[in-house]
Amino acid sequence: MITVIGSINMDIAIQTDIFPKQGETVLGNLFTTIPGGKGANQAVAVARLGSQVQMVGAVGKDSFGDELKSNLENENIVVDSVVRTSNSTGIANILLHDQDNRIIVVPGANFDVTKDLIDENMELIKKSSLIMLQLEIPVETIEYVLEICQQFEIPVLLNPAPAANFKREWIEKVTFLTPNETECLVMFGADYETVLKQYPNKIIVTLGGDGAAYHNGSEIVRIAGYKTTAIDTTGAGDTFNGAFAHAITSGSSIDEAVYFANIAASLSVEKFGAQGGMPTLQEVNARLE
Ligand code: ATP
Repeated sequence: MITVIGSINMDIAIQTDIFPKQGETVLGNLFTTIPGGKGANQAVAVARLGSQVQMVGAVGKDSFGDELKSNLENENIVVDSVVRTSNSTGIANILLHDQDNRIIVVPGANFDVTKDLIDENMELIKKSSLIMLQLEIPVETIEYVLEICQQFEIPVLLNPAPAANFKREWIEKVTFLTPNETECLVMFGADYETVLKQYPNKIIVTLGGDGAAYHNGSEIVRIAGYKTTAIDTTGAGDTFNGAFAHAITSGSSIDEAVYFANIAASLSVEKFGAQGGMPTLQEVNARLE
């Protein structure tokens, strides 16, 4: 069983012709609520591919919390460790105007993913084939989980987003680290090729439409992006991480897992929404043939 310990959000998107100025009210065009949060997205990506996955997270006792928990359940994700707390459910308020966007994230209940919640789920965590982490829950919790995983030799896949929350000393404790090119620069202050050479078979850099790269111990391996028309790249990284996790826990080598993840992520950009485009195993296999 793969365990995702991470964020669950409702993305509240508003499309508008004009961004309001200070003190101004404007009429928007479209309002949508879409399940999101990197933790939840990655859990969905894993589940769609048919791997067993459980989520450790927190939502509020509000209607968004109801909706998000049901959404995970409907995706066959085990939600027994998703707790309801007195904080509001995490939201991302996204204002969209032409190609521009302005986003406010209110983590809310995601900040209730504390060390105590980890302690309550210790047995499940210890039995996991892989722990998946992102950086949208408290840093102390991430640190605590990394310590436990090191102590009990549980593999960890850390997707360092947002990269500003990353601590360099964590690198020794993770099995795989999956920054995109920008995150790699923020975290290490060097170009990704230099970084990859330092951490062979550990760091996989995603390069958007250009695919992904890692170092196999003797050279940098580049997996070219699958040529397709991207409709919406939101969640491409989450799909990549979920698919990599599925493949690696199913016995694939790193080479095979990166190849698989790159194809899965290319399918995700062909549909709207982070979770909307996440492919099934059949869809990925069809493209692999
Ligand atoms: P996001 O934050 O939007 O989820 P990210 O910045 O973490 O994404 P990217 O490097 O943009 O991650 O994309 C992840 C993976 O998705 C890439 O490694 C690639 O496999 C796939 N991908 C992204 N964009 C495209 C594209 N335009 N065409 C084909 N594949 C793509």
